[in-house]
Amino acid sequence: MTEPQPHRVAILGATGSIGTAASDVIEHLRATDGSDRWVLRGISGHGNLALLAKTASRHLNARIVLSDTAAAQAWQSGDAAYTGVTFPRASRIDVGSEWLIDLAEDPEIDTVVAAIVGRAGLESTVAAVTAGKRVALANKETLVVAGAVVCEAMRNSGAELLPVDSEHSAIFQCLLGRESPRRIVLTASGGPFRDWTIDQMHNATVDQALAHPTWRMGQKISIDSATMMNKALEIIEAKWLFGVTADQIEVVIHRQSIIHSMVETCDGSMIAQLSPPDMRLPIQYALTHPRCLPGATKLLDLSKTMELTLAPVDRERFPAISLGFEVARVGGTAGAVVNAANEEAVGLFLLGQIRFTDIVPACQMALDNHNFEITASIDRLLELDRWARAEVRRWQARSNLV
Ligand code: NAD
Ligand code: MG
Repeated sequence: MTEPQPHRVAILGATGSIGTAASDVIEHLRATDGSDRWVLRGISGHGNLALLAKTASRHLNARIVLSDTAAAQAWQSGDAAYTGVTFPRASRIDVGSEWLIDLAEDPEIDTVVAAIVGRAGLESTVAAVTAGKRVALANKETLVVAGAVVCEAMRNSGAELLPVDSEHSAIFQCLLGRESPRRIVLTASGGPFRDWTIDQMHNATVDQALAHPTWRMGQKISIDSATMMNKALEIIEAKWLFGVTADQIEVVIHRQSIIHSMVETCDGSMIAQLSPPDMRLPIQYALTHPRCLPGATKLLDLSKTMELTLAPVDRERFPAISLGFEVARVGGTAGAVVNAANEEAVGLFLLGQIRFTDIVPACQMALDNHNFEITASIDRLLELDRWARAEVRRWQARSNLV
């Protein structure tokens, strides 16, 4: 039997919810599978330099990228906000978002955990794929914006794209050793407003929208879960990851977040993956595949009665789902436009400048107003990203929405 190779890992977005969970997983693997086999070689963070410095002090071989130049300069100039933040003496530190690409391509790194939130993670994720790395992909927005470009880069470089998103990790695991599926079924908790009426959602506050019933996550994905735009993005992500059509994808509400997704085989069997909701499990699997190693997470407690429910989505209350299917169906530039519009609208909602129920209509408006193109380069997609953000701001200014 051949010895497994050492894994030199970089975490892009190491200070976030996924990034910190990934760093925990690496510590767990170092303790249980060998500290010579698992090495954290690179980390990046945008804000929260204190947390980044703490991670760096536990992984002395890691090079560091501070992607937010303003925060880095404030720290370097001794700004009081960063009192006590010190990085290990010998650490290599690079400042500026352009270094994210350098880190993603670093020949000393085998596996890149793409855990930056939003379109900001696109260039570094594409760079890691182009450089032929194993990419543990949390940053679903990259596939939504540029799925065709990423798949083409993967074919050329031989990169491996391993899903971190719990639903896609479940589907990936259900598909192992099986023929192409008849249907894939994404489960959705339904978010904090799953039992709310449209009128109630109209008056939803930021705190209510951030209070997810089963997962603790970053702000943007928490709002996406409340609107169910997260599931819309996941429909598009699934299409690219698994090479299925929009018509082969189904979404069901599963309140308990135990069944992470399912695959229906051609003869009609439904295969599911179950585990307690903890992102460390799919992160670890993306790192260790095809090996399956003891995890750091709790096991399902089967000594108690457990209720697992499945129900259809109410698309009237959650129009994001139809929008997600529409984007997955038409492809081309639609994903870039809807993703950018969503990021902009979520930002405006968090600032109190639009209502919760304006977010999905803003995305639909941008999609309807844009000049669709069936293929586009990364530069063109980024141009459309900027256009869609501006279009949402113009729409907000015109419509006096709050
Ligand atoms: P988060 O907000 O907690 O963390 C985001 C990370 O990205 C931080 O390290 C932050 O410093 C960095 N970042 C933010 N803006 C940046 C910029 N402009 N340039 C460079 N870096 C920047 O987010 P999260 O919840 O960890 O989500 C990260 C990604 O993982 C998202 O794409 C999300 O959809 C996906 N995801 C998250 C979860 C979850 O449970 N949190 C589950 C599935 C998928
Ligand atoms: Mg998910």
